[in-house]
Amino acid sequence: MAVKNIGVVGAGTMGMGIAQVAATSGFEVFLNDVKEDFLQRSLERIDKSLSKLKEKGKIEEDKETILSRIKTTTNLSDFKEAEFVVEAVFENFEVKKKILVELDKILAPSVILTSNTSSISITRLAALTNRPSQFMGMHFMNPVPLMALVELVKGLATSQETFDEVKGIAEKMGKVPVEANDFPGFISNRILLPMLNEAAFVLMEGVGTAEAIDTVMKLGMNHPMGPLALADLIGLDICLDIMEVLYEGFKDPKYRPCPLLKKMVDAGYLGRKTGKGFYDYDK
Ligand code: NAD
Repeated sequence: MAVKNIGVVGAGTMGMGIAQVAATSGFEVFLNDVKEDFLQRSLERIDKSLSKLKEKGKIEEDKETILSRIKTTTNLSDFKEAEFVVEAVFENFEVKKKILVELDKILAPSVILTSNTSSISITRLAALTNRPSQFMGMHFMNPVPLMALVELVKGLATSQETFDEVKGIAEKMGKVPVEANDFPGFISNRILLPMLNEAAFVLMEGVGTAEAIDTVMKLGMNHPMGPLALADLIGLDICLDIMEVLYEGFKDPKYRPCPLLKKMVDAGYLGRKTGKGFYDYDK
């Protein structure tokens, strides 16, 4: 039976983007968060994003039709009718554990459960449920409505049927799915984060200024953004967390977080969100 509705847990940056894209692709959506206020704020942001996309001719249907497909709830038990679920709550194992254990009880046994985690082991999350073969990573990129890629991460127990089903749903959402196995950082962050970390080392060692480093990568390598500006955009705390996941996961010194990155996080210089990172921003 083809999936007609999707439950999204967590209506933050990623959850609201996933809900928007799913609704735009014709799925009915249940969107859950802990507070009504958070859900309302997310709906407003989805509304704005849809208006912009409509202006640019990137969506065909009326904004109202798309929005009418999104039902919000603070009560996870409303997910009992959900046919497919994406978890997008905080990147914290304990928070995810609580949600996944609860969802596992609420959802019909045939339902596939996916997580948008950037760095937590899919195999470890899957093992919290009674459906490890129907559990997968569905790693969307930020901002979800604009980024084509979704990394599909198979855990050790994920079945081929589950993978095929999730791939079909990702394609129906207009995304390009790429398969990855469950190793720390998957493909995307395993390659991206060490580059950002190396840029921090290059700055720390005085090889070049922040502007010089970013200019080399933009004009010399055709990257749309320099690594330090990108690290500021992602958030330096998030960059540090992911480097620590890579370092812990592989115990290979090549993944050691740059001391300058650590120092900046200690100082509360987290990038754009705090107005200060490798660059200064108006808050
Ligand atoms: P966020 O902080 O913007 O949003 C998380 C949301 O989860 C918040 O609205 C919070 O209220 C909600 N939440 C927390 N506990 C909850 C609970 N018990 N029940 C329901 N909702 C709960 O975070 P985000 O950036 O959207 O990240 C979500 C996930 O996506 C994380 O696993 C993250 O690693 C992953 N991810 C993030 C990015 C990114 O660039 N931000 C990219 C790819 C993947």
